[in-house]
Amino acid sequence: MLYEKCRIQVCLFFLCLALLFGIPATASDSNRRYPQTEIPSFWKGSVQEIETAIHEVKRGTTKTIAHSPGGRAVYLVTYGTTIDLNRQANYNSAAAARDPSYYANKPENTPPIVFIVGTPHGQEIEGMVGLVNLLRVAETGSDWRGKAWPRLREYLDRCRALIVPLSNPDGRARCPYDSFVGIPVEEMTRIGQGTRKDGTLYGWPGAKQRHPMKGDVGFLGAYFNDNGVNLMHDDWFDPMAEETKALLRVAREEAPDYLLNLHSHGHAPAILSTAYVPWYCKEAENRFAERLMERYRQAGLPAGRLPTPHEDGKTYPPPSFNLTSALHHVCGGISLLFECPHGLKETKYPQVNHEQILDLELILFEELFVFAIENPRPSAHAIRNE
Ligand SMILES: [Zn+2]
Repeated sequence: MLYEKCRIQVCLFFLCLALLFGIPATASDSNRRYPQTEIPSFWKGSVQEIETAIHEVKRGTTKTIAHSPGGRAVYLVTYGTTIDLNRQANYNSAAAARDPSYYANKPENTPPIVFIVGTPHGQEIEGMVGLVNLLRVAETGSDWRGKAWPRLREYLDRCRALIVPLSNPDGRARCPYDSFVGIPVEEMTRIGQGTRKDGTLYGWPGAKQRHPMKGDVGFLGAYFNDNGVNLMHDDWFDPMAEETKALLRVAREEAPDYLLNLHSHGHAPAILSTAYVPWYCKEAENRFAERLMERYRQAGLPAGRLPTPHEDGKTYPPPSFNLTSALHHVCGGISLLFECPHGLKETKYPQVNHEQILDLELILFEELFVFAIENPRPSAHAIRNE
């Protein structure tokens, strides 16, 4: 009884402290082991800044598609008109009917549908900043620096664009940094993949050995939502996370022609190979990456390796069937994964600043919308009428 009373008093003491000093329930600056690099004003990628950007959308429409285990909203922003798909089967059955138009019979001259999934990993802030600036371009023609992107705006307007600026708000809220420019890789790894109770790093790919990430957890990495689920490796036939279900639902309902899943790493920017997708996806992925990397080189930005089309699982262990693969299999669209450099303070990695990271992201989006217009998916309508 005495123990119970003491415990209540201790709890009340800490509650008062928290109220007095406004200690947040999620990430705090005290979780940083390195000082945060100075953040330029165009670098908007916190949960609050992303919410503000979404609430400022006027040319597009916004809707909440899920709530995270931490009670945070996941939003979808849409530009362009709704397209009547004349659906009479799900994608899988339509493919079995040997004609995807039974799933999505798009009328002639329908604008391509492009779905961009904002970073499922909460410490990979570069894609979030890129999307907040993409919303700004969609709304005003210029990014938050005031730099005009007429080609990006023109091609975005010619597509139906579906944008989820933040797919894992729990993970982002747990990340105490707003940028990893100038931060060592070890610190990014601690924040992203988390630690065991003894403080050792899970690292990559160690953070995938335990899933959901529960039990031996010291700091729950920003990879995960508040239930410890890494959206990249959910159970596709019975998803654990509402966020994953919502992303799959958007893809299933909208039938995007192109999908882009945003990530970040230390290395040069790259489009990674999506496993377990048909050859037309692998071939388009390679062609898109080639164009994108050429564009980066012309802009004086770092450019990474190309994904080479290849057969999956010829060696063991096989590649994972991840979110990028799963998104293809509900809609048949070309599902791509982009990795942006963080600008980590490591000599082995390309050194990029905030300006360059934003350019990498916006050039990526511009190239994607242009590619979608210039490389329309085979017209399912035409196939049915052959
Ligand atoms: Zn990632």
